[in-house]
Amino acid sequence: MRKKIVAGNWKMNLNLNEGKTLVQNILSGLSGLTDNKQVVIAPPFVHIAQTAAQLQGTSNIFTAAQNCSSEASGAYTGEVSTDMLLSAGAQYVIIGHSERREYFKEDDAILAKKTAQALSTGLKVIFCCGEPLEVRDGGTQNEYVGNQIKAGIYGFNADQLQNLVIAYEPIWAIGTGRTASSQQAQDMHAHIRSVIANQYGNVVAEQMTILYGGSCKPSNAPELFACPDVDGGLIGGAALKAEDFLGIIAAMTAI
Ligand code: PEP
Repeated sequence: MRKKIVAGNWKMNLNLNEGKTLVQNILSGLSGLTDNKQVVIAPPFVHIAQTAAQLQGTSNIFTAAQNCSSEASGAYTGEVSTDMLLSAGAQYVIIGHSERREYFKEDDAILAKKTAQALSTGLKVIFCCGEPLEVRDGGTQNEYVGNQIKAGIYGFNADQLQNLVIAYEPIWAIGTGRTASSQQAQDMHAHIRSVIANQYGNVVAEQMTILYGGSCKPSNAPELFACPDVDGGLIGGAALKAEDFLGIIAAMTAI
């Protein structure tokens, strides 16, 4: 049975005190997690050690970074290495979020390099993909996202992919309040699974956790998570309020 995950991406929000309070409130309302139903919290870099310390002793809830360097170490001012993240207590790293692709010009090659660096250090990867509105309107979203997946992960072997999760986030749905319909999400998730099956076979494809992201809320999470190929969500805005995040987690644990 493949893992279901709800991951919260705080982006560049919350100071250390606010982050501490949010994690406390999430922990006090959390129930229903198992080895197959997990939660990931991705705060900004400076929170990682604090968040990981708060999560110590808990089960099935993990700390993630939102980005990492593609280099192991050295003269790269301002960068944060995967080894630093691991030593601070992170278990996951988000790679390829559309905001990194768009605002920081991270291309397929650098994202594949970051993914390789993270996996080789022992971090699990949440690899993001998703099409802009003009691609969706032009009807070529399957080809576009398929190419992101091929460029991002085809260089890894099946064993390495056990430590990788995919997040499909249509850019037109991120932070816009416009969610993909459950049919649009299901269709794309099934397509992504077929792209994985083409390279690695059905067993690997069936084991791959594929999250949906884009204006996911407690009200729409149950319908999205009920889709057979949607294995949870990557949550932005709604991850900043304990009540909303817990509501989305409850939709996952209810499946
Ligand atoms: C995101 O940025 O990963 C995201 C899904 O944001 P939101 O939930 O706010 O649309």
